[in-house]
Amino acid sequence: MVLPKESVVHGSQASHPSRATPQTDVQPHELPGLDRLLHLPGCVALVAEHGHRLVTDEARALLAALRKQAVAQQLPASQIAPDVLTTALAQRVLARLQPAMRTVLNLTGTVLHTNLGRALLPEAAIVHVQAMMAQPNNLEYDLASGQRGDRDSIVESLLCQLTGAEAATVVNNNAAAVLLSLAALAKDREVIVSRGELVEIGGAFRLPDVMESAGTRLVEVGTTNRTHARDYEHAICERTALLMKVHTSNYVVQGFTASVDETALATIAHAHNLPMITDLGSGALVDLAAWGLPREPLPQEMLRAGCDVVTFSGDKLLGGPQAGLIVGRRDLIDRIRRHPLKRALRVSKLLLAALEATLRLYLRPERLTQDLPTLRLLTRALADIEATASAVQPALQAALGPLWRVEPVALQGQIGSGSLPIERLPSAGLAMAPVQAKGNGRALEQLAEALRHLPMPVIGRIADDRLLLDMRCLEDASLFLGQIGHLRLCSKR
Ligand SMILES: *Cc1c(COP(=O)(O)O)cnc(C)c1O
Repeated sequence: MVLPKESVVHGSQASHPSRATPQTDVQPHELPGLDRLLHLPGCVALVAEHGHRLVTDEARALLAALRKQAVAQQLPASQIAPDVLTTALAQRVLARLQPAMRTVLNLTGTVLHTNLGRALLPEAAIVHVQAMMAQPNNLEYDLASGQRGDRDSIVESLLCQLTGAEAATVVNNNAAAVLLSLAALAKDREVIVSRGELVEIGGAFRLPDVMESAGTRLVEVGTTNRTHARDYEHAICERTALLMKVHTSNYVVQGFTASVDETALATIAHAHNLPMITDLGSGALVDLAAWGLPREPLPQEMLRAGCDVVTFSGDKLLGGPQAGLIVGRRDLIDRIRRHPLKRALRVSKLLLAALEATLRLYLRPERLTQDLPTLRLLTRALADIEATASAVQPALQAALGPLWRVEPVALQGQIGSGSLPIERLPSAGLAMAPVQAKGNGRALEQLAEALRHLPMPVIGRIADDRLLLDMRCLEDASLFLGQIGHLRLCSKR
């Protein structure tokens, strides 16, 4: 396949070893020793700034790498000039200090992208986390009595108010919430679930495996497409601990289908003196339909329908930090909270601070589309997204040059994290493709790579022989515009 040769793009940090002019190669014994390197003026300055330990370690590594090149007769003399050595060492030291976790620009079109950290924290939560982490706090201390307190109490009343639950507790994520609820309420007993709801979500969360880990026995009823009330009725016996419903968040069963809704299932469970629990997955706390978005079931509706315990995520549609929220009947929540696993799955003060500040935003629902980034992005006006695409297009076209075409396009984004898997969000962005070579997969891969290697990596997606950048999640075009200058055309391949 023919590449548009001049158009391969690299991030600015990509090195371009010069092979042009043949030079005398450095022999291994001509390399400076560690001591001499560290006494070069630039290196002395590095030690003064960063300390001896880090600079020495990197100097050793640099010399070892140079020695390898020298042994292979591939080290031109220019590479060991003092200023070149100093620069190389400084680069190594700075690279070493770079955190592995970095901010990126999510232009994938998926708002809650699990690989990119799901929900963005609201400003209020960031501020609160910062304040709570810098000082001691009352994480488990009751300021009224001066006695030991319970960390759950920081968010419990808020969660109860927002969902109508009697009680609530929090663990590390929703997978933990399901695991803990089952371990506490159904250990060594049976849990009845419809075959249509045996979910696998990304990252190896498979409901049957979670059940096994919790020490419960899964009893499957119904078929993949149809499960009836009588299927549950027939399966109930003296070993049954509870009936469970799982929200099929990342897929849909369509066509000739039947399932038993929460109200009906709760009625069956309660007639047999059993609890009914629901794993909601995403669990929005407000009805997204109010903003013209597709509907996602709410925990408060599940509780009203008769569910005794509902579990859902903190960093999906709720728009907060990673967390697993468990709300429901007080006696059951108490059993869940007292289980030894709760201690292993408990949340940190960092997470609780973020969660509390996020939940408080829901006390003012009219302001949510401003205050909660997840909802702000999901409800962003199409015209606004298109305007961002237009603002970025000329600079990007100029940077890529005449061999690439950069065009505004209508796109279909998605919510992500399993929410409403088949619903699409009308969105807008830019499509990039080589002008000549049709379907040039390699050029597209190289451009995607160059974008990923920018100081603030830009993540798009390749589809239909184009690299697509969805602008829904780029609220500040200057963030991207500031990166474009770092894209470099590399003409030699
Ligand atoms: C996302 C999801 C989970 C797991 O939640 P995490 O917070 O990612 O651990 C469990 N069940 C369902 C139905 C989900 O959609």
